[in-house]
Amino acid sequence: MNNTVYIKKCNIYNESLIKTSLDEIFSEMSISSDFISKGDKVVIKPNLLIGKKPEQVVTTHPLVIKKVIDYLKKYECKVIIGDSPGGPFTKKRLKSIYKKCGFLEFEKIDNVELNYDTSFSKVSFQDGLLIKSFQIANFIKDADLIINMPKLKTHSFMKYTGAVKNLFGAIPGMKKAEYHLRLPEVDNFALMLVDLASLLKPNLNIMDAVIGMDGDGPSSGRKKEIGYILVSKSPFSLDLAGATLLNIKPEKIPTIYQAIKNNISLRYDEINLKGDELKPALNTKIPKISRSDTTSIKGLPVFITNIINKLLKPRPIFKQDTCVKCGECKLNCPSDAITLDEYPKVDLDKCIRCYCCQELCSYNAVKIHRPLLGKLLFK
Ligand code: SF4
Ligand code: SF4
Repeated sequence: MNNTVYIKKCNIYNESLIKTSLDEIFSEMSISSDFISKGDKVVIKPNLLIGKKPEQVVTTHPLVIKKVIDYLKKYECKVIIGDSPGGPFTKKRLKSIYKKCGFLEFEKIDNVELNYDTSFSKVSFQDGLLIKSFQIANFIKDADLIINMPKLKTHSFMKYTGAVKNLFGAIPGMKKAEYHLRLPEVDNFALMLVDLASLLKPNLNIMDAVIGMDGDGPSSGRKKEIGYILVSKSPFSLDLAGATLLNIKPEKIPTIYQAIKNNISLRYDEINLKGDELKPALNTKIPKISRSDTTSIKGLPVFITNIINKLLKPRPIFKQDTCVKCGECKLNCPSDAITLDEYPKVDLDKCIRCYCCQELCSYNAVKIHRPLLGKLLFK
């Protein structure tokens, strides 16, 4: 895997600025017909977590994707744009998300289609460090080339979401909840994501870090002007640079920590940075996740574990002033911990602290509360 990260400053979503940035990067990378052949099925995998307008900075901006499509035209390949967003993987839901995210215009371009194939297959991965087989959406499994296009954001469960975490969208719909339930601990979940990235091996990773998100990412955070487009053949190297841009020490991010520990990724000072100087954003707000949030102390009676969970661990809080009672949080809760008794309520004994409820609430109605005692004990 090539560990170079190409960096270009780009501080607004302007067509000609994005085009210039990408053209310069692709020419430096010497992308040629050895890389993409005529007729190849090229899948562009953006971050389409939930249906939000581009200016709400939750999803990969369509202008960046449009310029990648323009660049690909000369290779006469077939481009498929798709993701398995949060929630059920259905044609109706995909259509609604494409519309809200400003993607429907892509259907008008020759040789470009939006994916509506919701089938999936089991793919064996004997080299997996933790996971030996994955359920993968067929449109990604059958791709000749994968172009992974993450958005730079913080993440309440994984601290950060970039190239490696974006690939979780290759797992279809509610199957994602099964991985949360099987792997509730931060380190195991991160290791699963590292396995998934090693299996899928995206050919190119292009990060929309023009305007990203900090605070309560990946959907309820704060717009953060970052001002860059990053490209790498390695999702791990790209994330080392992306984390640095958000002013997070890369090793503090569970996916990066696991990838380095298992010799899948180099360290930040070992990768090759090319192009503009990478200047971290100032005053970023980063979620304070800790291993103790999801790890049970072994050997304790269940009732003591439950008391610890209630008193010390972070928990979702549902804000009645913004909640519209849509039930999306209940639908997506992997451990069935939410009841919708008019407003949502959580059973903290069942809650695995995955924060999917916060991630997939379109109304910013879920906040993660961290009890003071927990903050003091688990810094
Ligand atoms: S908290 Fe959000 S997802 Fe849950 S019911 Fe309310 S608005 Fe819907
Ligand atoms: S209540 Fe929220 S944080 Fe708890 S398990 Fe359900 S989705 Fe995850």
